Amino acid sequence: MSRTIIVSNRLPTKVQRSAEGLTFQPSEGGLATGLGSIYKADGNVWVGWPGLFVEDPNEQAQVAERLQADSMAPVFLTEAEIRDYYEGFSNSTLWPTFHYFTQFATYEDAHWQAYVAANEKFCQAVLALAGPDDTIWVHDYQLLLLPEMLRRARPEATIGFFLHIPFPSYELIRVLPWGAALLNGMLGADLIGFHTFGYMRHFLSAVSHMVGYSNQNGIVETPTRSVLVDAFPMGIDYQRYAEAAVSAEAEAHQRTYRAAMRGVRVVLSIDRLDYTKGIAQRLRAFEQLLVRHPEWSGQVSLLMVVVPSRDQVAQYQELKVEIDELVGRINAQHSTITWNPIHYFYRSFPFEELAGLYRLADVALVTPMRDGMNLVAKEFVACKTNQRGVLILSERAGAARELSDALLINPTDLNQLVEAMHEALHMPEDEQIAHMASMQALVRQYDVFAWTNLFMERLAYSKIKQQTMS
Ligand code: UDP
Repeated sequence: MSRTIIVSNRLPTKVQRSAEGLTFQPSEGGLATGLGSIYKADGNVWVGWPGLFVEDPNEQAQVAERLQADSMAPVFLTEAEIRDYYEGFSNSTLWPTFHYFTQFATYEDAHWQAYVAANEKFCQAVLALAGPDDTIWVHDYQLLLLPEMLRRARPEATIGFFLHIPFPSYELIRVLPWGAALLNGMLGADLIGFHTFGYMRHFLSAVSHMVGYSNQNGIVETPTRSVLVDAFPMGIDYQRYAEAAVSAEAEAHQRTYRAAMRGVRVVLSIDRLDYTKGIAQRLRAFEQLLVRHPEWSGQVSLLMVVVPSRDQVAQYQELKVEIDELVGRINAQHSTITWNPIHYFYRSFPFEELAGLYRLADVALVTPMRDGMNLVAKEFVACKTNQRGVLILSERAGAARELSDALLINPTDLNQLVEAMHEALHMPEDEQIAHMASMQALVRQYDVFAWTNLFMERLAYSKIKQQTMS
């Protein structure tokens, strides 16, 4: 029987050490939800790092046994591996490069060596589980070399790869000393998926310039195989958000917030702390709104959630300081005894409370400098069950390709951002409803389950196509 093996850097379960011993908590990420129905089915398994360091072989066996019961298999990484492969090459070389922040990229050969070794470690873990006919689906930028490593060991395997971040222009990839090796690593797959056609075109162009393989209709011809490349914009579990938004719990949260805000309009901003998200630019734009349109003073507040992330990387620590200072300065300058311009939260919120915030907001401000997709934009749309509310969305988020009914802005253009907020706060209700209804129809139809099914169908098709061509 053919099985499916999902591989990603992190497992969809967070294992933690507490006074009582090890705790296992499911993480509710979009990927875990979308793939839940696949990896929990008969014999299928999800391979990845459990999120903590386990060196003692007895404890490793205990973790592995517990995870196995939930269809997961751990790859144990050491502190040095996490530092050099994950924080180093993945988050300090690939992440900034693929998001067009080359000024933050480091180029350390030791990090590259660790990246190769870690991909090899994942490869061994998958091979220990996979048979020759199994379907293997590899995820994201931490594992770009894995498809080719697997292909060498299992020439007949069905291998899919999906990139969850942008794929940048060839001009950025050629800067990387290891660019061609990374492209060859990805080409070990039978199907390579991206969020948008733009990312896909950049990939095909990089392959043709740097590896020398041409392509036609999204099929790359390598000397031994043909590789299918396509766009699959990832969706969310629409139903789950739409239901949570009207749950008694979300409603209670929303009522409490509403009362506390005393009729003030709410502009919502939710991101992980990341320089790609444009958080500082957003704060400056909100301040300009108050300066240029003083009628909003006392009438609108920015509710800003920043989820702590990657706090071991220097740029993230610096960004945190910059945001803290900006919020402090703007609030000090503009607040009154009865009104706070910015409500700032540096922590993550539980799901029901998040749904309450989405429901509460008059405007969502989603303005990343670059973002592979951006799920927050789609979650906001799904939670607006009464269809009131306006989405302001960066044209450089992958989600902008689908959500063309949002107010699309260039996040570098401060003036445009200010005027978009002004326009959103003034937008007549019938206009809000028209835009929201059309975005909802799209986000509802192309949900995360449709995304998973489409990818798996195309992967099976890529294999059939190879057989008929050979
Ligand atoms: N999120 C969360 N808790 C919070 C704030 C956000 O779980 O307090 C979730 C949010 O619902 C979304 C994800 O974090 O699903 C962020 O995904 P996105 O694609 O927007 O950005 P990423 O962090 O992957 O770059």
